[in-house]
Amino acid sequence: MLTKRKLVTVLSILLTITLALAACSAPENAQVNTNDQENGTVNLYTDRHYDTDQMLYDLFTSETGIKVNVVKGKSDELIERLEREGDATQADVLITADAGRLYKAMEKELLQPVDSQILTNNIPQNLRDENNNWFGLTVRARVLVYSEAKTNESELSSYEDLTDSKWKGKLLVRSSSNIYNQSLLASMIAINGEEKAREWAKGIVENFAREPKGNDRDQATAVVSGEGDIAIMNTYYIGKMLSSSNPEEVKVAQNISVFFPNQETTGTHINVSGIGLTKSAQNSQNAIKLMEFLASEEAQEIFAEANFEYPVHPDVQPAELLKSWGEFKTQDINLSLLGKYNKKATEIANEVGWK
Ligand code: FE
Repeated sequence: MLTKRKLVTVLSILLTITLALAACSAPENAQVNTNDQENGTVNLYTDRHYDTDQMLYDLFTSETGIKVNVVKGKSDELIERLEREGDATQADVLITADAGRLYKAMEKELLQPVDSQILTNNIPQNLRDENNNWFGLTVRARVLVYSEAKTNESELSSYEDLTDSKWKGKLLVRSSSNIYNQSLLASMIAINGEEKAREWAKGIVENFAREPKGNDRDQATAVVSGEGDIAIMNTYYIGKMLSSSNPEEVKVAQNISVFFPNQETTGTHINVSGIGLTKSAQNSQNAIKLMEFLASEEAQEIFAEANFEYPVHPDVQPAELLKSWGEFKTQDINLSLLGKYNKKATEIANEVGWK
């Protein structure tokens, strides 16, 4: 319902702009645009792969007149590109679907702090860099999913419990080359220390139902087809599968249940998609406007409804599906630590043979 309302808003804004442009004399408009370059564009590098994002950029353009140029790529490639381009980069902002990568970009001095009341008011402290070099925009939880036909909820408790021998040959999780798992392991290092994190990763590998393959959705599919009992996956994929145009995906999502691990202990692992202003941004005013827009209630509602992500904005409600899973306790760490321990996490994963 909310999505429809937004669509109507977008359409009415577009119509207003079209009518306004038609009423104006063309030469005057052309002059304004060519004389004020800063007014025109913002360039972003993003590793996010969700359709909602373009919808948000279009809405931003319709509200501000600022055009958004999007370059998509893998986060590490985009960070390398920013490094290589140096001061000559076209990119004004970097968006990644992982706090660890934003931390990495910050460490390489590719970002600069933004002093914005809107951003600090709208985004809780643990979901942004302490010096405001990057800001979380959406939250995702890395949860356990299972089939009620096979597993009783009472058997589930924590990430640590997944290393118990009762789960031997029953655990489904994608490759450790994936950033979501690197950050999960980094959070285990931050909370339990390196030694315990190594033991944990080793125990996870020992309980694999199969060699890691596919993405998060494929792990859920393998639970339903009976290849394993428990899958580790990000929350929004469940919403996306339920609303998928592919009936197979809908069926899988309808046959799995969500479990938030570590509710009695250290909380469920969360991560953010976030944004940072590049050090050499040429359109920094426009970039900050975009950052503030994405943290606004309006944009946060769209992230929540259309992409099934938890909003960072405390006043915005998650989608009904996410609400139906209930509130949950999250890991109580600053997400910068996911970046700080990324290298160690990757080393450990290689050591224990988590492919
Ligand atoms: Fe994803």
